[in-house]
Amino acid sequence: MKIPKAIQNLVDSFERLPGIGSKTAQRLTFYLLHVPQSELDKFSSAVQNLKNNTVLCSVCFGIAETDPCLICSDSKRDSSVICIVEQPLDVLALEKNGRYDGVYHVLHGKIDPLNNIGPDEIYIQQLLQRVSKGFFKEFQKGRSQR
Ligand SMILES: [Zn+2]
Repeated sequence: MKIPKAIQNLVDSFERLPGIGSKTAQRLTFYLLHVPQSELDKFSSAVQNLKNNTVLCSVCFGIAETDPCLICSDSKRDSSVICIVEQPLDVLALEKNGRYDGVYHVLHGKIDPLNNIGPDEIYIQQLLQRVSKGFFKEFQKGRSQR
């Protein structure tokens, strides 16, 4: 029996996601066949708007709805304290406990020569530029969530 193309396309799409193997991809796809069309429409529009409705903050390189992001444009935050994190998710985790009131810089990865990730593949140059232009009295390293 040949699998309908619509099913195969979705299985293939799920399989491209990190941590999802072919069994899970099939299970998710067949699960979605039982979900009402209105829910599927909501799901697909959420996927469609994910990148359309987000921007990279040109100051901290976090993911946001505006540029600069709400954190970078908040005058109540201490802009002389900068926390350097690996991933945008790390900002969310640090913001959740609400104790940090400085600003961030998101590198979007870490140097990993074995996987061809050098300094040019992450936002280190932008960090150096930012530090050379601004006044920072304290640097912190955000703990990665992974
Ligand atoms: Zn920002």
